[in-house]
Amino acid sequence: MRRFEGKVAIVTGASRGIGRGIALRLADEGAKVVINHRGSADGAAAVAEEISARGGAALVIQADVSQYDEAQRLVQETLAAFGQVDVLVNNAGLTRDTLIMMMKEEQWDAVIDTNLKSVFNCCKAVARPMVKRKRGRIVNISSVSGLAGQAGQTNYAASKSAVIGFSKSLAKELGSRNITVNVVAPGFVPTALTESILSEGDNTQRAIEATPLGRLGTAEDVAAAVAFLASDEASFITGQVLSVDGGLVMQ
Ligand code: NAP
Repeated sequence: MRRFEGKVAIVTGASRGIGRGIALRLADEGAKVVINHRGSADGAAAVAEEISARGGAALVIQADVSQYDEAQRLVQETLAAFGQVDVLVNNAGLTRDTLIMMMKEEQWDAVIDTNLKSVFNCCKAVARPMVKRKRGRIVNISSVSGLAGQAGQTNYAASKSAVIGFSKSLAKELGSRNITVNVVAPGFVPTALTESILSEGDNTQRAIEATPLGRLGTAEDVAAAVAFLASDEASFITGQVLSVDGGLVMQ
């Protein structure tokens, strides 16, 4: 499938993990992809090289998307390079897990700024250019934690639930301009983010047992759902949450 021929996509936090998988998938389907990262320049460059090696087009743009001005610059540099933005995938995220009794204010702020404020920052930055062209696809990455909650993740779950409310509201605001806003909520995917949780005790085994489909997810599983929601095939779908979690959380 080449659903993104002639399209331009920004993937935040694409230097590794799920973001890398999304960037590769969109590029494989013909999109020119902006590989955003905050500090992992080598990882981002490797993803861009992988895309070039497969015959695709990629541009690395460093920007801390938790910062309003940096998100504006990310979009401005994308427009300068490629002239348009068709798809925005808000994937950048981090965890600072701890029980509320131990949680420091900085841990709360870091997670809310990176996982939630970044979504506002980037959506705000693409809204005008997308409205002007009367087309656009925004896909925001939430989590099973945002749907079901998770001990030790009050900050993370709050940010990921908020992304859902934000996305539904924005979908209502931008629907008349032919811009869709949807959410993908992944279950457990082994990445740098989940390494410490999944490697602790028998957590991996327990996660697999709690998952009806009996395995952990992959970045490719998530990327397939994102690509669908970002494609023309999903032109009548907006404000929805698509769980990609092997059935872990059924709504
Ligand atoms: P990961 O491997 O740790 O990758 C996170 C990416 O986000 C990195 O590329 C990182 O780049 C980037 N990033 C972090 N802060 C940033 C910032 N302020 N500005 C720009 N980029 C930033 O994590 P992952 O597991 O792939 O997670 C990707 C998304 O999926 C996150 O939103 C996460 O919450 C969500 N998710 C993951 C799972 C899972 O099981 N893995 C489950 C549900 C949801 P730098 O290193 O350069 O900062």
